[in-house]
Order: sequence, then structure tokens, then C-alpha cells
Amino acid sequence: MLTFNVAGLLRSAPGTTRTYPVRGEQLEIAEDVQLAAPIEGEVRLTRTGRSVLAGAELTTALEETCSRCLQPMVAPITVNLQEEALPSIDFETGVPVDFSAEPDALRLDEHHELDLSEPAREAISLAQPIAPLHRPDCRGLCSVCGFDLNADPGHLHEGEEIDPRLAALGTWSSERSDGRPEAGEPPSRRKSTDITLHQGEPHNQEE
Ligand SMILES: [Zn+2]
Ligand SMILES: [Zn+2]
Repeated sequence: MLTFNVAGLLRSAPGTTRTYPVRGEQLEIAEDVQLAAPIEGEVRLTRTGRSVLAGAELTTALEETCSRCLQPMVAPITVNLQEEALPSIDFETGVPVDFSAEPDALRLDEHHELDLSEPAREAISLAQPIAPLHRPDCRGLCSVCGFDLNADPGHLHEGEEIDPRLAALGTWSSERSDGRPEAGEPPSRRKSTDITLHQGEPHNQEE
């Protein structure tokens, strides 16, 4: 639970700060935002003249889908919270505070509990990566057939030119297909290319 009892802090002088470790916290974020790791970090609570300031640095990870190749992945995130929580009852008198001046403010409850779940939920939702990548150089899917290009960067369709970025590989393949048998292989098993098509059609550069 990301809740903290600040009764003791409210008895301290303004400016007093207390820090609390956050260890292994679970939190429901949203139906389409799932944590892939517990929440870890630290919360700092500071008493001011009228409120409690809460600062937190929290790390966790989200269940994501790679935006290029669509495979499931985990995206680590760090969020920083800066919140001001106002009392809901007067600490000295126990009289309920009039909320009308600041109706949307984060409030301590009547037991002087500060609940940072909602601010944390919001910050974690906002930290969702827009276009997560399962690795920075993910090659994505073939725009023609949907083949995962990470599995075979040389993926080609019949009649397609070799990608210039793969020209070096193509040259290398041509050299290997010039008729010289590879060491240890009978001539009849010589390869015309080392680039394999997923349809099973060998790409022949000598056509
Ligand atoms: Zn990917
Ligand atoms: Zn394809």
C-alpha cells in the first residue's frame, strides 16, 4: 500500500522531512496498463505550514507490446511524484476542513493517512512509452507478408532486389555461388545463395 500515516509528521515543526522506502508494492493501474514488476523506490514527506508535501521516485516496469514486431515485452519506467496533500480535519481541533476553496486537492484522510496510490497510478499511466521497442534495433515485420524480420534480416520475396543495406551480404553470397565447392562439401551440394526465402524458394542471383 502506498499509504503513509503522517500524524507524527504533523506534530513536527514545519520543514521536517521523513523518508520511507517503497518495496515490492503492487498496484492496479488500468485494464490496459499492467505492471510487469513491483514498484520500488522512496517517498519523502515534508511538513509545511499548511500541508504535507510528498515527493517520490518510483521504478517499475510495464507489460508492453513491441510497436514494430508486436512481440510481448517489458518496459522499465521511472516516475517522479510531487504532490501536496491538505488535511481533511484540523489536526488541533478535529474539526472537518472546508474543502470548497480547493475541492480537487489531494487530501489526508481523517486518520491523517496519506494515500499516494492515485497519484502513482496516474503517473505510471502517463509514463507508458508511446512506441516501445523490444530492442532498439528491432527490424519489425515485413510490410508485405508480416514475416518477423528479426528472424531473417535477408527476407525477400521472389523478384525483389536485395536491400542495399544487405548488399555486402549479397556479394558474399555471390562469391560463395561462383561454382567453387565449399570445403568438405561435394560440388553437387554447392549453394546458389545463403539468403533463404521464407516461402522456401531459393533466391538465385544468376538468373
Ligand atoms: Zn520488436
Ligand atoms: Zn515478406
